[in-house]
Amino acid sequence: LASHYLGRIEASSHNAFLHLDRERTLAQAASADARIAAGTAGPLTGVPIAHKDIFVTRGWRTTVGSKMLANYESPFDATVVDRFSKAGMVTLGKVNLDEFAMGSANENSAFGPVKNPWDPLAVPGGSSGGSAAAVAARLAPAATATDTGGSIRQPAAFCGVTGIKPTYGRVSRFGMIAFASSLDQGGPIAQTAEDCALLLNDMIGFDERDSTSLTVEQGNVAEDYTRDLNKPLNGLRIGVPKEYFGEGLASDVESAVRAALEQFVKLGATLVDISLPKTALSIPTYYIIAPAEASSNLSRFDGVRYGHRASEYKDLQDMYRKTRAEGFGREVQRRIMVGTYVLCHGYYDAYYVQAQKIRRLIADDFQAAFADKCDVIMGPVAPTVAWDLGSKANDPVANYLADIFTLSTSLAGLPGMSIPCGFGAGEKNAKRPVGLQIIGNYFAEAKLLNIAHQYQ
Ligand code: GLN
Repeated sequence: LASHYLGRIEASSHNAFLHLDRERTLAQAASADARIAAGTAGPLTGVPIAHKDIFVTRGWRTTVGSKMLANYESPFDATVVDRFSKAGMVTLGKVNLDEFAMGSANENSAFGPVKNPWDPLAVPGGSSGGSAAAVAARLAPAATATDTGGSIRQPAAFCGVTGIKPTYGRVSRFGMIAFASSLDQGGPIAQTAEDCALLLNDMIGFDERDSTSLTVEQGNVAEDYTRDLNKPLNGLRIGVPKEYFGEGLASDVESAVRAALEQFVKLGATLVDISLPKTALSIPTYYIIAPAEASSNLSRFDGVRYGHRASEYKDLQDMYRKTRAEGFGREVQRRIMVGTYVLCHGYYDAYYVQAQKIRRLIADDFQAAFADKCDVIMGPVAPTVAWDLGSKANDPVANYLADIFTLSTSLAGLPGMSIPCGFGAGEKNAKRPVGLQIIGNYFAEAKLLNIAHQYQ
């Protein structure tokens, strides 16, 4: 299985993979075989997986899509990587992403953009573009990904595959290079909800090495996410937020999503009109909080402790300045500047504190809906299908605006899922996939997977 996928990867031209190590992969596959022969295999033993290059891995480089870490090799594995290795999964390699997971199109990678397997003229989405493209192109049956403001759900939607961002704090962030720590959450991308359920069984759980990991006492108990997959959906109340169907939603996306909602009615669910009135505020709120946290997290990349260092400099200040100017790409530099600005004395109250207050109101919107109107919320993942490569590459605000339907879930820390629900039209009538978003209350992962599985 591993050599089959390696062959496909080596023959592919999507730029999804950044690092391969055939020998290491085949050695892992051999030990999985031994486990199978010994009768000690679990359900994922021998199954290949691609890791987003934001999860640190011993023996493989971890670049986080940045020149800053172009030659970095971690002395330890991220908890997620470690858990999958213990389950016997076989690492196929490390996959491409937007630099430090900042982006919505995978065009911010220092190692070049990824091509959408459905249409090579289209972006794959971001920041987990490599993960989604690898699964969509059958270069890997599963991939790890991370979602800070939509980076699991949106690339899954653009590439026509399935992805789930768990409740914030359920998956360990240990060894996941930090972008915005109060938002970052790991999760799987795979073909189906059933595959995601199997992956979450090993991914979710308390980790004492992550200070924001939810504890068992807080409800982060081991579950079998395959348990409820076959439950019928009779009586399920689906909230349909009017803010997710307004101006700006492309008609091809709207019709695919509405057709999916009708399918759920046939499966026994009822649709309930709801409102999430603060939706539009999620963009300015997120694009203050995420850069603020990023500017602080990325201060560690100083040319001393990690990664790249400028080769010529006059003094320490000059070394910092040149190292960071050379190592970070434009979008990362922009976020550091915005983040530093909103945190500085004099602006902190006007921007950062205000954004934190609105973040709470956004979370309250969801709780009001879940309290008495609906069990889950559905809508589009993104306002359009994947756009053309290059068409928004120099327009950061156009990229930010496209995150409108995924940011609120992240700000609220809720679980969210993307499943394929049809196609819109791309250039020259190429098919470009549409994703349906399913949002649940805290700890509702099993319910989301059940709902997705019934549809699939
Ligand atoms: N597109 C968003 C951003 O650029 C979200 C990225 C993410 O979830 N990592 O920040």
